[in-house]
Formats: sequence, C-alpha cells, structure tokens
Amino acid sequence: MNKKEALKIYNSQNEKIRAYELVMNTTVYDKMTVAPKDGNAYCNRMMAIIEGELYNLKTAGEYVDAILYLSNEDLGEVGNRDIYLAKKSLDEILKFSKEEIMEFTLAQMDGNDAWYKAKMDKDYKEFEPYLLKLIELSKKKAQRRNPAIKAYDLFLDDYEEGMNMRKYDHFFSLIRKELLPLIKKIDKKKGFIDDSFLYRYYPADKQALFMKDIMDYLGYDKSWGYMGLTEHPFTISMSRNDVRVTTNYDEHNITAAIFSVIHECGHAFYEHQVDPKYDKYMFLHNMSSGMHESQSRFFENYLARRKSFFKLLYPKLQEYFPQNLGNVSLDKFMKAVSVSKCSLIRTEADELTYPIHILIRYELEKDIFAGKADLNKLDQLWNEKYKKYLGIEAGDASEGILQDIHWSDGSYGYFPTYALGSAIGAQLIHKMEKDLDVDALLEKGKFNKITKYLKDNVQHYGALYSFEEILKKATGEEFNPQYYIDYLKNKYGKIYEIKQ
Ligand code: ZN
Repeated sequence: MNKKEALKIYNSQNEKIRAYELVMNTTVYDKMTVAPKDGNAYCNRMMAIIEGELYNLKTAGEYVDAILYLSNEDLGEVGNRDIYLAKKSLDEILKFSKEEIMEFTLAQMDGNDAWYKAKMDKDYKEFEPYLLKLIELSKKKAQRRNPAIKAYDLFLDDYEEGMNMRKYDHFFSLIRKELLPLIKKIDKKKGFIDDSFLYRYYPADKQALFMKDIMDYLGYDKSWGYMGLTEHPFTISMSRNDVRVTTNYDEHNITAAIFSVIHECGHAFYEHQVDPKYDKYMFLHNMSSGMHESQSRFFENYLARRKSFFKLLYPKLQEYFPQNLGNVSLDKFMKAVSVSKCSLIRTEADELTYPIHILIRYELEKDIFAGKADLNKLDQLWNEKYKKYLGIEAGDASEGILQDIHWSDGSYGYFPTYALGSAIGAQLIHKMEKDLDVDALLEKGKFNKITKYLKDNVQHYGALYSFEEILKKATGEEFNPQYYIDYLKNKYGKIYEIKQ
C-alpha cells in the first residue's frame, strides 16, 4: 500500500460510513419527532442492525490498514489531525465485537423509549432497570477501553478532549465557592422582580409564530434548517447544509421555548459554519461538546438576554400576546427574563443557578462511576442534592431524576460540558465586545455580523483543534473560568442590588 492508495481506501470508506450515519440520523430525527410510538421497538432493532453494519465498515481490514498506514505519514496539519481522530476512534471500536456494539445501541434506544414513557407516567421505577443496565454496560465498556484510566475520566474526555475529573473538580469548586453565596442571598429576595406575566397562558400555535420570527432574525434559514417538536429539544446534523433542531412548548411559560430555540440555533450555526473545505475530512466534523455548548449558550445567554436583542423582536411578541404583554414594557420583560431563582428544571434555569444544576449531575455521575453511589437510590440521591444545593425538592420524578434525556441513552459525562461551554462563552463575549459593537448590531437586526464573527473566530475550524486551542486563537488567552464567575457576579449583583 502506498500513500495514494491508502488515502483512496480511507476516503471512499469514510463516504460509505457517512451514508449509513445519514440513514441513522434521519431515522433518529424521524423517530423523535413524528414516528408513532408503537413502531419504536421494531425501529430500535433495525437501528441496532444498521449499527452492526456500520461496525463492519469501520473495522474492515483494508480500512483499518489504511488508517494504520496513514497514521505514520505526514499529511499536513489538517490531514494529520483527521487521521489522529480516525485512529483514536478505531482503537476504541476494535476493542469490541459487533454483537457488543449492537447490544449497547439497543440498550440506548430502549432506554430512551423507557425514559420517555416513565417521564410521562412520572414513575422512576419504570425507567430504573434500563438506567442500571446502561450504567453497568458503560462501566464494562470503560474497563475494556482502558482499565488504567478511571471510567468517568474516559467519559469526560469523550465529550471534551483533554478534560478530566481533576480539571472539572477545580472548575466546580470555583463555582461552588464563588456563586453559591450569591445564590443564597438572591433567594432571600424572592419577589424582588415581578415575572408573573411570563407564566400566563401562551397557546403553542401562537408561540410557534414567534419562533419563526426568532429564526428569521437569527438567520436560521429554511434552505439549511428545519424545526420539529420533541419532548427534549436537540439539534442534529445530517450534513453541513441540513441541520435540524427541535423544540417543545410549555403553554404556561413563554420563555422556555424562546430560549431553547435560540440555544439550539446556536448549535445549528456551529454545524453549518464549519469550513466547506473540511467536508471531505469526516472526523473534522466531530466537534467537541463543550465547544458546541459554548456556541449554543452564547446565543441563548450572552446574546439573547440583552435588551438590544429584543429591541426588534419584542414588539412582535407583544402583538401575538396583547393580553399578556401589551402593558409590559421591554425593560420590564428583560428584568423578568433575568430573574434568578432556585428551581428544579435545568433547561429552564437562569444563568446564575444553571451551573449548580450541572454541579449536581457532575457529583452524581462521579459517584456512580466511582462505585460510591447506592444505585438503588439514585432518585433519592438526586433529590437530596437539590435540597442541599438549591434548597428545593422535586414534586415527582419528572421534575427530578427523569427530567433529562442524557442518562437514558448512556451519555454520561456530557452534562459538565454545559457549564464548561457557558464559561467558554463568557470568555468569548468578553473578547467579542472589544471587537464589535454587539448591542448596536443586535438593535439593528444585523445578526449576520455576529454569526460571521463566530464563524471566522471559532466555528470554521470544526474539530481541527481542541477547545483550549480554539479559545486561545479566538481570544489570545488560555481558558480562564474567572470571566464566567465575574460575569455572573456582576450581572446578578447589579440586578438584585447586592454589594459583594
Ligand atoms: Zn445544547
């Protein structure tokens, strides 16, 4: 085999792998949005078979040989990174048989369905056996992958290259120390800001009209985007030019859908704005979760919670809901969307309490995989943490351990990337404000200037670099969580008139 032959085999097999992945992603999207639930069991079995075929493609002799050959060649910066990621992925998959991979896929998909039903029934016991099975399988998988590294460290690195418990412990101890005292002070000022009007009756069909206005404002264009409905909002990329999002309407909370749509559009832009020249490099489209969450939370918090963002949009919202918002000024609305309160639902949490929701999940996952948690009492442990950190308890499991989708498909180690992403976002907005007049652009509806900035400084790289490298290129500095802490303390100290 020479370099040319190896590249030919490598590229053509990647294309086949992508074809299967497209089928799987399309099926997932279909299943989560429109497919009738009774078809799930059949669909899951078929998906496990496709995953098995994908395994054959990913471990085919020639392809493996090509990757091994190319990993010893100099392919330039871009090619080297692509092969490095391909080799890493290959080393992992070769540790498992096809049957094992299929078993895990089936457990994920069945777990997901069981979670959904249990959440609707508000009954954790329905989901518990599936969860315990997935935890067990994940532990075994980690042991096989690399017995020298702690399971949870492996998972953390899966979602954010280079991260581990040591780094996250430091990060979360900063959050605990710096933010909890402020959260406690704000909790004593309940009712300081009136946000009751956000929880009036907002019919879903009218909310949907406003979401369309938001997507137009953001430039999430139907030529490359589409929005469906699901229990848990998400983004999925079929290709750079077909990136779909979903949302969910709560008819008694107008902000839930607004900020979640903006969040998912942030993810969508990241997928869409990777440099087209990387299209042939399959692995350069596997962007890390922390970086991804930094872009979505950038949209959701650092841009959309500004008055300037709503300058053009708010009058439209008032038009859809004159009875609820006709007499509410933009200033009053902005104050209401900045309320901080200890609440149960992560996806609806304000910016300040949000990282505590993540801290709770981080501590639980850490204990689960260190064998320190009583696996038969996970729902109780969940509630105890909420009581300890936020002083509240879930009324039922749908507001507690069943609220998130992640544990149902084995995505352990994902949660911390939300807090990490928020911290990355704070550092990015600090730099962006030096380079652009962000408020002036938002007020004038020139959101395309913002997305272009993000493309030029962050998104076009795809997975070419680690988050730490991209952040350094974008801001000129190492990752520094102090920006995040300062941002939250300043913002909420001001809103709640608390001197620190
Ligand atoms: Zn997200």
